[in-house]
Amino acid sequence: MKQGRVFSGARPTGRQHLGNYLGAIKNYVALQDDYECIYCIVDLHALTTMEEFEDLRQNAAEMALDWLAAGIRPAETIMFVQSHVPQVTELHTILSMFTPLGKLTDLPTFKEKVAQQPHNINYGLVGYPVLMSADITLYKASVVPVGVDQASHIEFTREIVRTFNHRTGKQVLVEPQMKNTEFPKVLGTDGVQKMGKSLNNHIELAATPAETEKRVLTMVTDPQRVGRSDPGRPEVCNVFTLHQTFSPNELPMIDAECRRAGIGCVDCKKILAQNINTHLEPFRARRADLARDPQQVWDVLHAGAKRAGAIAQQTIAEVKDAVGLPR
Ligand code: SF4
Repeated sequence: MKQGRVFSGARPTGRQHLGNYLGAIKNYVALQDDYECIYCIVDLHALTTMEEFEDLRQNAAEMALDWLAAGIRPAETIMFVQSHVPQVTELHTILSMFTPLGKLTDLPTFKEKVAQQPHNINYGLVGYPVLMSADITLYKASVVPVGVDQASHIEFTREIVRTFNHRTGKQVLVEPQMKNTEFPKVLGTDGVQKMGKSLNNHIELAATPAETEKRVLTMVTDPQRVGRSDPGRPEVCNVFTLHQTFSPNELPMIDAECRRAGIGCVDCKKILAQNINTHLEPFRARRADLARDPQQVWDVLHAGAKRAGAIAQQTIAEVKDAVGLPR
């Protein structure tokens, strides 16, 4: 018996990396056991921050491949592309009438974006949380997994739902609950910034074992370990952070040997690369298999959009009735 309906969206960023895997995909896979899951590739959201038009189609396909290879089960989970269900834009428009503008411009995430792209403060960027609310409420999701940085958006969605239901006098929209998830912030190979493609500090899940080792060997370690004989501090080393996930058996040894300079950073990284490669071997095999027939992935996404569309049609009809739009 499933505990409720989960919705989560992620921008089409192409091939996924370890940060995406540990921060989201692993959790997506696990949630399927207890919830009815809807996972959406939010291509419309991507347009709000794009400087140049990217190949969103290719990026969506690569991302979907990674999701499937990681263990998303499309026979039960709905996996689709946001723009394939156009009712989300209708709901976005209707919900925007229930949203005070000041609330949107006061959100810390909006202020961050303004600082990041002062030359491109577009209307879509301001309305981003309304579109996100439309995503969640269109599918009547009862649970949304969130990290700390997304919590304000979900609270925002809950407020819109309350306002909508109160003002229309109809309990049409479902107030989603937040499922606080420990999304670990995975740092990139630079050891400073969050792992990300744009910073080129990432390690792709679908990389070859040799590429993975090459990347791992470039990782920045404890800055106090200047020479081989200097003792290290695993707690400040990003290599050690990844060992915590990928090297449970060697962890006590690495912790002790690093502190007494018994192991060098190169050897330590080689162990990590080996363990990442072993861990990802089944994933990579499944991915290669799926990639042989790219149409398969689109079939999954289109079938997902059909199932999502059926829910969306029902909700949008109820919403239009609630606000009195003529049918
Ligand atoms: S030995 Fe390993 S854990 Fe210690 S500083 Fe070097 S890379 Fe980091």
